[in-house]
Amino acid sequence: MFESLTDRLARVFQRLRGKGLLTQADVDQGLREIRDVLLAADVHHEVVQELLTRVRERAVGEKLVESLSPAQQLLAIVRQEMARVMGGEAQKLRLAGRPAVVVLVGPAGGGKTTTAGKLAHHLRKRGRRPILISADPERPAAAEQLATLAQRITVPFAPADQDPLAQIPAILTRAKRELWDIAIVDTLGTPPGLPPPAFLSGLLAAVKPSDVLLVLDALVGQEAIRLAEAFLPFGLTGIVLTKLDGDARGGAALSLPARLRLPILFVGVGERLEDLEPFEPGRMADRILGLGDLSGLVEKLQEAGVSAQAERLLREAVFTLEDFLAQLEAVRRAGPLSQLFARIPGLGRPEEDEVEREFKKMRAIIQSMTIEERRNPHIIGASRKRRIARGSGTTVQDVNRLLAEYEQAKKLLRGLKPGKIRGGKFPFPR
Ligand code: GDP
Ligand code: MG
Repeated sequence: MFESLTDRLARVFQRLRGKGLLTQADVDQGLREIRDVLLAADVHHEVVQELLTRVRERAVGEKLVESLSPAQQLLAIVRQEMARVMGGEAQKLRLAGRPAVVVLVGPAGGGKTTTAGKLAHHLRKRGRRPILISADPERPAAAEQLATLAQRITVPFAPADQDPLAQIPAILTRAKRELWDIAIVDTLGTPPGLPPPAFLSGLLAAVKPSDVLLVLDALVGQEAIRLAEAFLPFGLTGIVLTKLDGDARGGAALSLPARLRLPILFVGVGERLEDLEPFEPGRMADRILGLGDLSGLVEKLQEAGVSAQAERLLREAVFTLEDFLAQLEAVRRAGPLSQLFARIPGLGRPEEDEVEREFKKMRAIIQSMTIEERRNPHIIGASRKRRIARGSGTTVQDVNRLLAEYEQAKKLLRGLKPGKIRGGKFPFPR
């Protein structure tokens, strides 16, 4: 596990205590740490440069606020600037026309067909009447994939695979008559790196969409910009970034809006139809900075009915290893593990089995501790670690790792304030 950004910044700023202003040298040193983290998250280097230049302008000479550490203050500026680059507020679909036409484009395998189904599901839950249209003249299996998704969410499906340009206008006329108000058109994609399919421009001219969404896999990282540029001539209105449940730190989420001046509207966070979320710039900034997504985590805990515990964790300065274990248990009960664990810094792993194994190991370690050790982890020295490792069938490294992750969770939780969570306030580590 790499040292967290908050720890690194805290170290940089330690000697700063007692000063009243952020100086050029202090800020530069802090920004160097932040630059490393952004580059490691696969943010485009020019985007990093532009961002840090703006942060430097704002931060130098900034008065230090009593209640915040200099590191926190610098991070707050960085986070604000990142959110601004990503569009500030969450942006919405335009959805103009009857029916409003939303066309999904992008390289093959990016998640267009899956996103079409998710989007229909999302809109239906909000009282809209979407229909799904498949416009892939080359792969018969593509229509089947979308038909299956449509069936699962009981949304009408219309294939337009023989001759999309001729078929879709007829489908739209019928949709209007039958009061379906949003037509989601899934298109075929060429393999990443090849020019987009030739029939796209004809299709877009024929259907006059209000929204043309570029669907991209977050795992492609920097490559995303080049892939996206190939689709710019098609009048894109927004981006859907998929597979953010995986390992991607999400640098593309910062690079794409910055370079292409296009908002990200949704993110895909899993393979299920429910796994589509409106894009939230602030949360994304936390993720890219490696700060985890504790506001999201606490929300999930509350949804899972462990609000009392969540509230107490937030209120009390005491956070023992027993609390940590209870928190992990609650999160484990609350939903698909990999998705939730990805929200805790240092625990982001895509494989369900691996997460489960990791959880069992952590539980065994904590259970091998005495009550006193669980409540006062600072007493755990080398010989206690050896005993705990033996008792739990793990290694001293495992014990160290658990203690480090516990410390990180503690720091992040202490920074949260009850009542400020829903509003998405930044969970400042203390
Ligand atoms: P298309 O070729 O662009 O239509 O891509 P598909 O919709 O067929 O998706 C390609 C693969 O990516 C499928 O196996 C999907 O299940 C998977 N996929 C799509 N979106 C996500 C996501 O947000 N998370 C994960 N984990 N997988 C996704
Ligand atoms: Mg497809």
